[in-house]
Amino acid sequence: MTLLVFGSSGQVAIELARRAPDAVFLSRAEADLSDPDACAAAIAAHAPSAVINAAAYTAVDKAEDDEALATTINAKAPAAMAEACAARDIPFVQISTDYVFDGSGDTPRAPDAPTAPLNAYGRSKLAGEEAVRAAGGRWAVLRTSWVFSAHGNNFVKTMLRLSGTRDALNVVDDQIGGPTSAARIAEACLAIVPVLARDAGTSGVYHFTGGPDASWADFARAIFVAAGRQVTVTGIPSSDYPTPARRPLNSRLDCATLATFGIDRPDWRRDLGEVLQDLGEQT
Ligand code: NDP
Repeated sequence: MTLLVFGSSGQVAIELARRAPDAVFLSRAEADLSDPDACAAAIAAHAPSAVINAAAYTAVDKAEDDEALATTINAKAPAAMAEACAARDIPFVQISTDYVFDGSGDTPRAPDAPTAPLNAYGRSKLAGEEAVRAAGGRWAVLRTSWVFSAHGNNFVKTMLRLSGTRDALNVVDDQIGGPTSAARIAEACLAIVPVLARDAGTSGVYHFTGGPDASWADFARAIFVAAGRQVTVTGIPSSDYPTPARRPLNSRLDCATLATFGIDRPDWRRDLGEVLQDLGEQT
């Protein structure tokens, strides 16, 4: 099987590369998602047997002032990829986000729950989902949340950095979701591909997040305990931490249908230990 992956430097792409070293990974220089036609051309040129899109415009706050570019990268490029894959009858996996929901209520949302993004990034990712669905073929949209790893920018690395200079932090405690290891997302994508290849009927939108659900403050406390840092975390409401893009309060995702691919919800507390070891931190 020849697996083609869009993205080479992101959190999920790096974890994919660790697990699928024979796959072809396209950097921005090799396939710029701001040029959707170039993405379709890359699929034609590589003639892969499956495609995973691990690249995206992920700067949530910046997207508020840059929605057109975010939409090209997060919707038009995946549309071109999905159409090219459908035409070749090969599996296509697109990664999406809890930010397609408005975050109301306090129960986990199923994949078919109504969407209503609160911010430009969420709108761009939802447009990508809709385009992938419309292309048909063998496709999966994997919605995840709060991605962490030893690479790039993420909450774990930010907390560790802040612990170098701070012994007390205020952290939002009214947003609840599932911190998710990029390694587990990569494994989920790689498990989904062969099932899609066998059975196009498994195509659809799926949820995949780490459990148990937690607040950002809970996550921060767990990071400091696991890393042996003495930092006191005080929970604060989102209203005390204003950001350009509004975030959903309830990011709980119901992951039950992932059983289609034999995938269970991973425990982020165990995955956190793995990432801290990867970073050379005490666990
Ligand atoms: P990262 O932010 O770590 O990496 C994004 C990747 O996309 C980078 O490799 C970047 O390349 C690439 N990229 C950005 N713009 C372009 C472009 N114009 N052309 C080509 N490549 C581009 O992403 P993650 O690994 O964290 O995210 C993976 C997926 O998960 C994405 O679909 C994201 O929307 C989704 N997701 C992420 C969450 C999170 O908390 N991070 C939460 C929920 C969903 P370069 O290095 O050149 O900039």
